[in-house]
Amino acid sequence: MTEGTESLRKTYTCLRCGKQWNSHMDTPRRCPACSSYFWNEPPRDFVCLKCGHSWKARVLEVPNICPKCKSTGWNDARSEMSSGNPDQETVERVSKLYKDGAGVVSITMELKISMSSVIRIIRSNTDNVVGLRM
Ligand SMILES: [Zn+2]
Ligand SMILES: [Zn+2]
Repeated sequence: MTEGTESLRKTYTCLRCGKQWNSHMDTPRRCPACSSYFWNEPPRDFVCLKCGHSWKARVLEVPNICPKCKSTGWNDARSEMSSGNPDQETVERVSKLYKDGAGVVSITMELKISMSSVIRIIRSNTDNVVGLRM
């Protein structure tokens, strides 16, 4: 008789990665696939690092592209790093726009570069980084 033990198992679905698995625990602590402790909470808001667009995703997986700018690297700050530092002209334009009162988002739009680059440039070129103006 294996049915007795089978009936104690429940099927859980990870809201983060979509993994389904069986467990005899009432509430598993972690998803076995993505190791998330928050597997039973819906995904949070996503924010695109490239264009600053934020959206709520209904999909179970992390979206591949930003729905607005269609960037595939919308959540990947590392690819930014490996592409090298922004050139001097970009640094100067970002610094000038920021000192003239523009926020991070509008500079991103204006110069068509990634938001992570803009933030990095501002951080390395201004003393007042505490209240970074978005
Ligand atoms: Zn998962
Ligand atoms: Zn985007």
